[in-house]
Amino acid sequence: MVRGTIRKIYLFSTVALLLFLVASLFVGTKPVTATRHRPQNYTDIPVLNYHKVDTLYHSLSISPEEFEEQMAYLHENGYHAITPDQLMNYLNRGKPLPDKPVLITFDDGYLDNYTNAYPILKKYGFTATIFLVTDLIGNDPRFMNWDQVREMQKNGFIFGSHTASHAVLTKLPTEEALKELVSSRQKIASELGRAPRYFAYPTGAYNLAVEELVRTAGYTAAFTIRYGQAGVSSDPYALERIPIFKSAKTFRSFLIRLNGAPLLERLGIIRN
Ligand SMILES: [Zn+2]
Repeated sequence: MVRGTIRKIYLFSTVALLLFLVASLFVGTKPVTATRHRPQNYTDIPVLNYHKVDTLYHSLSISPEEFEEQMAYLHENGYHAITPDQLMNYLNRGKPLPDKPVLITFDDGYLDNYTNAYPILKKYGFTATIFLVTDLIGNDPRFMNWDQVREMQKNGFIFGSHTASHAVLTKLPTEEALKELVSSRQKIASELGRAPRYFAYPTGAYNLAVEELVRTAGYTAAFTIRYGQAGVSSDPYALERIPIFKSAKTFRSFLIRLNGAPLLERLGIIRN
């Protein structure tokens, strides 16, 4: 009798949990901005965020083998790498994207992006967007130089700003924060012949005042490290990304973060 009751409670809890999980797939928590055009069959877009592709044992450093495993997975599963312009044209105007779009991004501009990640990305026909700390480019041997950046640009890679000195903008006086945004934008424009349209917040730190400065400095959109997919209800100056970390099970964690994003985001299971 008691055993039967426990079994019923167990069954009821399991069914309730399943219903909750399924329901949460359909109930969005983000408000939909009415002024934006909502494309038919619109989907949220995964924006992957990497830092280093190297053999250092560090959570922000994926090994070249791990990175290749992930790119091979995206390739074999029909993903298409897109540019931030494609993403924004889709979100703002409903301009169609290729099937299974993914935006691959790197922060900081480490040398290994050129020596290790670039050949792998080329092999699978992918391009990426790299946010540069402009004071370090060409000045610090751990980072790329402008010739390497230009070579990648010629091959379809997009470069954005990550400030001049990797400054945490929320901690700077307004004038200095604006200077970081404007001077890095000018540096990239002078080196690459075109002003960058996109920005990524160092350490992911932003607030409404900083967002306004990013807009004032002339950027079209900005990326955070807040876990989630970029969608029509996203704030264009606080776009979500999916940070990819090295762990004991890097590939498994990559799959969960990539494929589970909509559900995990809504349940608040992964926050960064
Ligand atoms: Zn950074």
